[in-house]
Amino acid sequence: MKFATKAIHAGITPDPSTGAVMTPIFQTSTYAQESPGQHKGYEYARTQNPTRSVLETNLAALENGHAAICFASGLAAQDAVTKLLQTGDEIVAVNDLYGGSYRQMVRVYGQWGLKSRFVDMYNAENVERELSADTKMLWIETPTNPMLNVVDIEAVCAVARKHGILTCVDNTFASPYLQNPLDLGADIVLHSATKYIGGHSDVIHGCLIVKDAELAARLRFLQNASGAVPAPMDCFLVLRGIKTLHLRVQRACENAEAIAHFLKSHPKVAKVYWPGFPDHPNHDIARRQMRLFGAMVSFDLHENTYEAAEKILSGTELFTLAESLGGVESLIGHPASMTHASIPREARLKVGLTDSLVRLSIGVEDADDLIADLKATLG
Ligand code: PLP
Repeated sequence: MKFATKAIHAGITPDPSTGAVMTPIFQTSTYAQESPGQHKGYEYARTQNPTRSVLETNLAALENGHAAICFASGLAAQDAVTKLLQTGDEIVAVNDLYGGSYRQMVRVYGQWGLKSRFVDMYNAENVERELSADTKMLWIETPTNPMLNVVDIEAVCAVARKHGILTCVDNTFASPYLQNPLDLGADIVLHSATKYIGGHSDVIHGCLIVKDAELAARLRFLQNASGAVPAPMDCFLVLRGIKTLHLRVQRACENAEAIAHFLKSHPKVAKVYWPGFPDHPNHDIARRQMRLFGAMVSFDLHENTYEAAEKILSGTELFTLAESLGGVESLIGHPASMTHASIPREARLKVGLTDSLVRLSIGVEDADDLIADLKATLG
């Protein structure tokens, strides 16, 4: 099955008891047993829920995996991956990753003696040089948030495999429609399904997808044992979002291309970050591993101050000033004070995340209207 067909059909059959075409929301915490241990495969809803099972089958198909394991949020999914490690182990992560992922690694797991280091991953040889005897996991996010750098998943995963190190790729920014890291050698794919997969800014949800059955069993154990599971209604919303994932992401990427070119030609804009430009430093890798170049665009201003950015952020009408991304509506954000406020300023500046950087999540509206909105606020 190709992607669009999988999005609509994988794992989804009419409900056997009623014929309902849409997967029902099984809003129950427990299930009747005929006698102790005799049941229909469902005992308690933290452990299994039929709405969640359908979603997990569908997500596994979208990422060409063996199994998907769903969580209450993207960060809860990260939490489960991190629990595969032990005190003294080290995570080597890409140096401009989502602020919340950084915060969890440093401030939550740091206090349990788990080490994390943030390195330049744009060259696989550099990644190999950075490994230590304690490195047990490589954490890749690509394209990165908000600098939109692209990591060569295949090359970095090959280094990890050579050293027996697990790899986790946060595929949130690309979505499974644009990029499938398991096909490029990754062990675990993570999504904040809050973003493109859900697609309508109405649910918080996370998932992991893996190829290896034993790894799936370990993560499923953690899903049940730690208990950060998603509600049945949330699984339903994510399933509904997936049905148009390919249409939404396709349109959003086309809009992003038009907007990136508009911004590049604007006299107040100093730099536009979007992997689709031929002069983007990782353009060739993006072309190889992504179907399209994504719908996130960041830009910096000649007037390099927070005040200059603030004027643009509060001057749009169609772009809503808000955290998050990947919904049908376009959003505008200020990474330094919003999504990346938990990263120290010096660390931010080192990767180019200045006080005047603006991030756009491009939605599926008409590109001409979005460009007119940006034109009006930029002046
Ligand atoms: N990964 C990335 C790239 C994100 O942008 C986010 C949230 O913004 C997360 C993970 C965390 O996901 P959630 O907010 O669903 O916990």
